[in-house]
Amino acid sequence: MTAANTNPRASLELGRASFRGLSAYDPDIQPCRIDLSDNTNLWGAPPVARSAVEFADSPTLTRYPAPYSRELTRVLAGYLGVDPNMVIAGCGSDDLLDSAIRAFGEPGDNLAQFDPTFGMIRVFATVNGLSVTAVPARNGEGVDALLGADARVIYLCSPNNPTGEVLDAGLIESIVRLARGLVIVDEAYAEFAGVSSVGLLARHENLLITRTMSKAFGLAGLRVGYAAGSPAIVREVEKSRGPYKVTSLAERAAIAAIEHDRVWVDEKVAEVRTNRARFTERLRRLGLEPIESGANFILVPVVDSRHAGARMARAGVAVRQLENLTGIGDALRISIGPWPMMEECLAVLEAALQ
Ligand SMILES: *Cc1c(COP(=O)(O)O)cnc(C)c1O
Repeated sequence: MTAANTNPRASLELGRASFRGLSAYDPDIQPCRIDLSDNTNLWGAPPVARSAVEFADSPTLTRYPAPYSRELTRVLAGYLGVDPNMVIAGCGSDDLLDSAIRAFGEPGDNLAQFDPTFGMIRVFATVNGLSVTAVPARNGEGVDALLGADARVIYLCSPNNPTGEVLDAGLIESIVRLARGLVIVDEAYAEFAGVSSVGLLARHENLLITRTMSKAFGLAGLRVGYAAGSPAIVREVEKSRGPYKVTSLAERAAIAAIEHDRVWVDEKVAEVRTNRARFTERLRRLGLEPIESGANFILVPVVDSRHAGARMARAGVAVRQLENLTGIGDALRISIGPWPMMEECLAVLEAALQ
Protein backbone atom coordinates (compact mmCIF):
# COMPACT_ATOMS: atom_id res chain seq x y z
CA MET A 1 0.00 0.00 0.00
CA THR A 2 1.37 3.45 -0.86
CA ALA A 3 1.78 6.26 1.61
CA ALA A 4 -0.94 8.25 -0.16
CA ASN A 5 -3.53 5.55 0.55
CA THR A 6 -2.89 5.53 4.25
CA ASN A 7 -2.51 9.26 4.75
CA PRO A 8 -5.40 10.34 7.00
CA ARG A 9 -5.05 13.94 5.79
CA ALA A 10 -5.83 12.90 2.23
CA SER A 11 -9.13 11.34 3.25
CA LEU A 12 -10.04 14.49 5.17
CA GLU A 13 -9.28 16.71 2.21
CA LEU A 14 -10.94 14.50 -0.40
CA GLY A 15 -14.04 13.64 1.63
CA ARG A 16 -17.15 15.79 1.91
CA ALA A 17 -16.78 18.52 4.53
CA SER A 18 -20.12 17.56 6.08
CA PHE A 19 -18.79 14.03 6.76
CA ARG A 20 -15.90 15.15 8.97
CA GLY A 21 -17.85 15.06 12.21
CA LEU A 22 -19.31 11.63 11.44
CA SER A 23 -17.98 8.20 12.31
CA ALA A 24 -19.12 4.70 11.37
CA TYR A 25 -21.78 3.12 13.61
CA ASP A 26 -20.20 1.55 16.69
CA PRO A 27 -22.65 0.69 19.46
CA ASP A 28 -19.82 -0.33 21.84
CA ILE A 29 -21.37 -3.70 22.77
CA GLN A 30 -19.22 -6.44 24.33
CA PRO A 31 -20.25 -10.01 23.46
CA CYS A 32 -22.19 -11.18 26.53
CA ARG A 33 -23.95 -14.35 27.72
CA ILE A 34 -27.25 -12.46 27.64
CA ASP A 35 -27.63 -9.62 25.13
CA LEU A 36 -30.47 -7.22 25.98
CA SER A 37 -28.94 -4.34 24.02
CA ASP A 38 -30.53 -4.26 20.56
CA ASN A 39 -34.29 -4.99 20.92
CA THR A 40 -34.25 -7.98 18.57
CA ASN A 41 -36.53 -10.97 19.23
CA LEU A 42 -34.92 -12.83 22.14
CA TRP A 43 -36.96 -15.98 21.48
CA GLY A 44 -35.18 -16.36 18.13
CA ALA A 45 -36.38 -16.47 14.51
CA PRO A 46 -39.90 -17.67 13.62
CA PRO A 47 -40.01 -21.33 12.48
CA VAL A 48 -41.44 -21.17 8.95
CA ALA A 49 -39.16 -18.26 8.00
CA ARG A 50 -36.22 -20.32 9.26
CA SER A 51 -37.07 -23.29 7.08
CA ALA A 52 -37.44 -20.96 4.08
CA VAL A 53 -33.79 -19.98 4.62
CA GLU A 54 -32.60 -23.54 5.24
CA PHE A 55 -34.26 -24.98 2.13
CA ALA A 56 -33.51 -22.16 -0.33
CA ASP A 57 -33.21 -23.53 -3.89
CA SER A 58 -30.41 -22.73 -6.31
CA PRO A 59 -32.21 -20.02 -8.36
CA THR A 60 -32.89 -18.13 -5.13
CA LEU A 61 -29.13 -17.78 -4.71
CA THR A 62 -28.01 -17.60 -8.34
CA ARG A 63 -30.47 -15.19 -9.94
CA TYR A 64 -30.92 -11.51 -9.14
CA PRO A 65 -33.88 -10.81 -6.89
CA ALA A 66 -36.96 -8.95 -8.10
CA PRO A 67 -35.86 -5.27 -8.33
CA TYR A 68 -38.60 -4.01 -5.99
CA SER A 69 -39.77 -7.23 -4.25
CA ARG A 70 -43.36 -6.96 -5.50
CA GLU A 71 -44.32 -10.37 -4.17
CA LEU A 72 -43.25 -9.33 -0.69
CA THR A 73 -44.82 -5.86 -0.88
CA ARG A 74 -48.15 -7.47 -1.89
CA VAL A 75 -48.04 -9.71 1.19
CA LEU A 76 -47.01 -6.78 3.42
CA ALA A 77 -49.88 -4.68 2.00
CA GLY A 78 -52.27 -7.43 3.09
CA TYR A 79 -50.71 -7.43 6.56
CA LEU A 80 -51.17 -3.64 6.86
CA GLY A 81 -54.56 -3.53 5.10
CA VAL A 82 -53.48 -1.06 2.37
CA ASP A 83 -53.17 -1.23 -1.44
CA PRO A 84 -50.04 -2.99 -2.79
CA ASN A 85 -48.92 0.17 -4.62
CA MET A 86 -48.66 1.88 -1.21
CA VAL A 87 -45.84 -0.35 0.08
CA ILE A 88 -42.09 -0.43 -0.52
CA ALA A 89 -39.58 -2.87 1.02
CA GLY A 90 -35.91 -2.22 1.65
CA CYS A 91 -32.66 -3.39 3.22
CA GLY A 92 -33.97 -2.84 6.74
CA SER A 93 -36.16 0.14 7.55
CA ASP A 94 -32.89 2.08 7.92
CA ASP A 95 -32.59 1.89 4.11
CA LEU A 96 -36.08 3.35 3.69
CA LEU A 97 -35.54 6.11 6.25
CA ASP A 98 -32.32 7.12 4.47
CA SER A 99 -33.99 6.92 1.04
CA ALA A 100 -37.06 8.89 2.13
CA ILE A 101 -34.98 11.67 3.67
CA ARG A 102 -32.97 11.89 0.42
CA ALA A 103 -36.12 11.81 -1.75
CA PHE A 104 -37.91 14.60 0.12
CA GLY A 105 -35.13 16.84 1.42
CA GLU A 106 -32.71 18.75 -0.83
CA PRO A 107 -29.22 19.37 0.54
CA GLY A 108 -29.52 22.46 2.72
CA ASP A 109 -33.10 21.66 3.80
CA ASN A 110 -34.06 21.00 7.38
CA LEU A 111 -35.28 17.84 9.14
CA ALA A 112 -37.16 18.27 12.44
CA GLN A 113 -37.38 15.63 15.17
CA PHE A 114 -38.02 15.36 18.87
CA ASP A 115 -35.07 14.76 21.21
CA PRO A 116 -34.37 12.12 22.43
CA THR A 117 -35.23 9.85 19.52
CA PHE A 118 -33.65 7.27 17.17
CA GLY A 119 -30.01 8.32 16.77
CA MET A 120 -29.60 7.14 13.17
CA ILE A 121 -31.93 9.86 11.89
CA ARG A 122 -29.37 12.59 12.56
CA VAL A 123 -26.80 10.51 10.64
CA PHE A 124 -29.10 9.92 7.64
CA ALA A 125 -30.03 13.61 7.56
CA THR A 126 -26.38 14.68 7.70
CA VAL A 127 -25.10 12.29 5.00
CA ASN A 128 -27.91 13.53 2.73
CA GLY A 129 -26.95 17.17 3.32
CA LEU A 130 -29.87 18.13 5.59
CA SER A 131 -29.56 20.04 8.84
CA VAL A 132 -31.42 18.84 11.92
CA THR A 133 -33.70 20.74 14.29
CA ALA A 134 -33.98 18.63 17.44
CA VAL A 135 -36.83 19.77 19.68
CA PRO A 136 -36.22 18.77 23.30
CA ALA A 137 -39.62 17.37 24.15
CA ARG A 138 -41.53 14.32 25.30
CA ASN A 139 -45.21 13.46 25.50
CA GLY A 140 -46.64 15.99 23.13
CA GLU A 141 -44.89 19.15 24.21
CA GLY A 142 -42.85 20.99 21.60
CA VAL A 143 -45.23 20.52 18.66
CA ASP A 144 -45.17 24.23 17.81
CA ALA A 145 -41.36 24.21 17.71
CA LEU A 146 -41.40 21.08 15.55
CA LEU A 147 -43.81 22.62 13.03
CA GLY A 148 -42.07 26.00 13.25
CA ALA A 149 -38.75 24.55 12.08
CA ASP A 150 -39.90 24.88 8.46
CA ALA A 151 -38.73 21.33 7.83
CA ARG A 152 -39.08 19.45 4.54
CA VAL A 153 -39.04 16.24 6.58
CA ILE A 154 -40.47 15.70 10.07
CA TYR A 155 -39.48 12.47 11.80
CA LEU A 156 -41.66 10.96 14.54
CA CYS A 157 -41.06 7.62 16.26
CA SER A 158 -43.84 5.76 18.08
CA PRO A 159 -43.16 3.84 20.23
CA ASN A 160 -40.08 6.04 20.49
CA ASN A 161 -36.58 4.63 20.65
CA PRO A 162 -35.01 5.02 23.25
CA THR A 163 -37.85 6.10 25.62
CA GLY A 164 -40.49 3.54 24.63
CA GLU A 165 -43.17 6.24 24.75
CA VAL A 166 -46.18 6.02 22.45
CA LEU A 167 -47.19 9.30 20.80
CA ASP A 168 -50.83 10.31 21.10
CA ALA A 169 -52.77 9.49 17.90
CA GLY A 170 -54.45 12.90 17.77
CA LEU A 171 -51.09 14.61 18.15
CA ILE A 172 -49.61 12.63 15.25
CA GLU A 173 -52.55 13.52 13.01
CA SER A 174 -52.36 17.21 13.83
CA ILE A 175 -48.64 17.22 12.97
CA VAL A 176 -49.36 15.44 9.66
CA ARG A 177 -52.17 17.90 8.92
CA LEU A 178 -50.12 21.03 9.64
CA ALA A 179 -46.71 19.94 8.26
CA ARG A 180 -45.38 21.59 5.10
CA GLY A 181 -43.37 18.56 4.01
CA LEU A 182 -43.18 14.83 4.48
CA VAL A 183 -43.94 13.33 7.89
CA ILE A 184 -42.27 10.00 8.64
CA VAL A 185 -43.73 7.93 11.47
CA ASP A 186 -41.26 5.20 12.44
CA GLU A 187 -43.24 2.22 13.75
CA ALA A 188 -40.37 -0.24 14.24
CA TYR A 189 -42.03 -1.32 17.52
CA ALA A 190 -45.72 -0.98 16.57
CA GLU A 191 -46.51 -4.68 17.16
CA PHE A 192 -45.60 -4.31 20.85
CA ALA A 193 -47.79 -1.22 21.31
CA GLY A 194 -50.83 -2.57 19.45
CA VAL A 195 -51.49 0.88 17.94
CA SER A 196 -50.53 2.27 14.54
CA SER A 197 -50.93 5.33 12.34
CA VAL A 198 -51.66 3.22 9.24
CA GLY A 199 -55.32 4.37 9.37
CA LEU A 200 -54.16 7.95 8.68
CA LEU A 201 -52.92 6.94 5.21
CA ALA A 202 -56.51 7.01 3.95
CA ARG A 203 -56.74 10.73 4.77
CA HIS A 204 -53.21 12.09 4.30
CA GLU A 205 -50.86 12.14 1.30
CA ASN A 206 -47.75 13.49 3.05
CA LEU A 207 -47.26 10.57 5.45
CA LEU A 208 -44.80 7.68 5.28
CA ILE A 209 -44.92 4.95 7.91
CA THR A 210 -41.83 2.76 8.30
CA ARG A 211 -41.91 -0.76 9.74
CA THR A 212 -39.42 -3.60 10.09
CA MET A 213 -39.07 -7.39 10.21
CA SER A 214 -36.12 -6.91 12.61
CA LYS A 215 -37.94 -6.57 15.92
CA ALA A 216 -41.20 -8.51 16.53
CA PHE A 217 -40.61 -10.78 13.51
CA GLY A 218 -37.13 -11.81 14.65
CA LEU A 219 -35.35 -11.40 11.29
CA ALA A 220 -32.84 -8.58 11.93
CA GLY A 221 -30.03 -10.59 10.33
CA LEU A 222 -31.90 -10.77 7.01
CA ARG A 223 -32.35 -6.97 6.82
CA VAL A 224 -35.95 -6.46 5.71
CA GLY A 225 -37.82 -3.23 6.37
CA TYR A 226 -40.85 -1.72 4.67
CA ALA A 227 -42.79 1.50 4.45
CA ALA A 228 -46.32 2.51 3.56
CA GLY A 229 -47.51 5.78 2.09
CA SER A 230 -49.53 7.21 -0.77
CA PRO A 231 -48.54 5.73 -4.18
CA ALA A 232 -46.93 9.05 -5.16
CA ILE A 233 -44.76 9.12 -2.03
CA VAL A 234 -43.77 5.47 -2.44
CA ARG A 235 -42.70 6.09 -6.06
CA GLU A 236 -40.33 8.86 -4.94
CA VAL A 237 -38.81 6.64 -2.26
CA GLU A 238 -38.36 3.85 -4.87
CA LYS A 239 -36.35 6.21 -7.10
CA SER A 240 -34.17 7.21 -4.21
CA ARG A 241 -33.72 3.69 -2.87
CA GLY A 242 -32.76 2.02 -6.13
CA PRO A 243 -33.30 -1.62 -7.26
CA TYR A 244 -32.28 -4.99 -5.71
CA LYS A 245 -32.16 -3.91 -2.06
CA VAL A 246 -33.93 -6.99 -0.67
CA THR A 247 -32.17 -10.31 -1.34
CA SER A 248 -34.16 -13.27 -2.75
CA LEU A 249 -33.49 -15.22 0.42
CA ALA A 250 -34.71 -12.38 2.64
CA GLU A 251 -37.80 -11.91 0.47
CA ARG A 252 -38.72 -15.62 0.71
CA ALA A 253 -38.23 -15.69 4.47
CA ALA A 254 -40.15 -12.47 5.07
CA ILE A 255 -43.09 -13.74 2.99
CA ALA A 256 -43.05 -17.02 4.94
CA ALA A 257 -43.01 -15.12 8.25
CA ILE A 258 -45.96 -12.88 7.34
CA GLU A 259 -48.00 -15.74 5.84
CA HIS A 260 -47.22 -18.59 8.24
CA ASP A 261 -45.56 -17.35 11.45
CA ARG A 262 -48.13 -14.86 12.68
CA VAL A 263 -49.37 -17.05 15.53
CA TRP A 264 -45.77 -17.55 16.73
CA VAL A 265 -45.07 -13.80 16.52
CA ASP A 266 -48.32 -12.89 18.29
CA GLU A 267 -47.45 -15.28 21.14
CA LYS A 268 -44.01 -13.70 21.60
CA VAL A 269 -45.47 -10.19 21.46
CA ALA A 270 -47.99 -11.15 24.17
CA GLU A 271 -45.14 -12.55 26.28
CA VAL A 272 -43.16 -9.31 25.81
CA ARG A 273 -46.12 -7.32 27.11
CA THR A 274 -46.55 -9.55 30.16
CA ASN A 275 -42.81 -9.50 30.94
CA ARG A 276 -42.60 -5.76 30.30
CA ALA A 277 -45.24 -5.05 32.97
CA ARG A 278 -43.64 -7.49 35.40
CA PHE A 279 -40.11 -6.16 34.77
CA THR A 280 -41.29 -2.53 35.18
CA GLU A 281 -42.84 -3.43 38.51
CA ARG A 282 -39.65 -5.15 39.70
CA LEU A 283 -37.53 -2.13 38.68
CA ARG A 284 -39.83 0.10 40.74
CA ARG A 285 -39.31 -2.18 43.72
CA LEU A 286 -35.56 -1.54 43.33
CA GLY A 287 -36.32 2.16 43.76
CA LEU A 288 -35.84 2.94 40.03
CA GLU A 289 -38.19 5.01 37.86
CA PRO A 290 -38.52 3.21 34.50
CA ILE A 291 -40.40 5.06 31.75
CA GLU A 292 -43.75 3.51 30.75
CA SER A 293 -43.02 1.65 27.49
CA GLY A 294 -45.07 0.50 24.50
CA ALA A 295 -42.05 -1.27 22.95
CA ASN A 296 -40.02 -4.43 23.65
CA PHE A 297 -37.58 -2.50 25.82
CA ILE A 298 -37.60 -0.34 28.92
CA LEU A 299 -35.61 2.84 29.52
CA VAL A 300 -34.39 3.16 33.10
CA PRO A 301 -32.74 6.39 34.24
CA VAL A 302 -29.63 5.74 36.40
CA VAL A 303 -26.99 8.03 37.88
CA ASP A 304 -24.03 6.72 35.84
CA SER A 305 -24.98 4.52 32.88
CA ARG A 306 -21.39 3.87 31.77
CA HIS A 307 -20.43 2.54 35.16
CA ALA A 308 -23.62 0.49 35.64
CA GLY A 309 -23.54 -0.87 32.07
CA ALA A 310 -19.89 -1.89 32.33
CA ARG A 311 -20.51 -3.71 35.60
CA MET A 312 -23.50 -5.51 34.09
CA ALA A 313 -21.46 -6.52 31.03
CA ARG A 314 -18.74 -7.97 33.27
CA ALA A 315 -21.47 -10.04 34.95
CA GLY A 316 -22.59 -11.34 31.52
CA VAL A 317 -25.60 -9.12 30.69
CA ALA A 318 -25.33 -6.51 27.90
CA VAL A 319 -27.73 -3.55 27.97
CA ARG A 320 -27.62 -0.30 26.01
CA GLN A 321 -25.85 2.51 27.89
CA LEU A 322 -27.15 5.97 27.06
CA GLU A 323 -25.48 9.08 28.39
CA ASN A 324 -26.96 12.45 29.16
CA LEU A 325 -30.25 12.10 27.26
CA THR A 326 -32.13 15.38 26.94
CA GLY A 327 -34.56 15.80 29.83
CA ILE A 328 -33.64 12.38 31.26
CA GLY A 329 -29.90 12.19 31.91
CA ASP A 330 -28.08 8.86 31.96
CA ALA A 331 -30.16 5.74 31.34
CA LEU A 332 -30.01 2.05 30.48
CA ARG A 333 -32.18 0.68 27.69
CA ILE A 334 -33.03 -2.94 28.38
CA SER A 335 -34.67 -5.30 25.85
CA ILE A 336 -37.49 -7.53 27.07
CA GLY A 337 -37.11 -11.28 26.50
CA PRO A 338 -38.07 -14.58 28.13
CA TRP A 339 -38.58 -14.20 31.89
CA PRO A 340 -35.47 -16.17 33.02
CA MET A 341 -33.31 -13.62 31.15
CA MET A 342 -35.14 -10.73 32.85
CA GLU A 343 -34.69 -12.39 36.23
CA GLU A 344 -30.91 -12.62 35.64
CA CYS A 345 -30.84 -9.06 34.38
CA LEU A 346 -32.55 -7.84 37.58
CA ALA A 347 -30.00 -9.63 39.78
CA VAL A 348 -27.06 -8.25 37.80
CA LEU A 349 -28.57 -4.74 37.67
CA GLU A 350 -29.20 -4.68 41.40
CA ALA A 351 -25.58 -5.69 42.07
CA ALA A 352 -24.28 -3.13 39.54
CA LEU A 353 -26.12 -0.29 41.27
CA GLN A 354 -24.83 -1.09 44.79
C1 LIG B 1 -34.28 -0.95 15.16
C2 LIG B 1 -34.86 0.30 14.63
C3 LIG B 1 -34.92 0.58 13.25
C4 LIG B 1 -34.10 -0.19 12.25
O1 LIG B 1 -34.62 -1.32 11.86
P1 LIG B 1 -34.04 -2.12 10.62
O2 LIG B 1 -35.28 -2.47 9.89
O3 LIG B 1 -33.35 -3.30 11.21
O4 LIG B 1 -33.13 -1.26 9.80
C5 LIG B 1 -35.57 1.70 12.80
N1 LIG B 1 -36.12 2.56 13.68
C6 LIG B 1 -36.06 2.35 15.00
C7 LIG B 1 -36.68 3.34 15.90
C8 LIG B 1 -35.41 1.23 15.51
O5 LIG B 1 -35.30 1.08 16.83
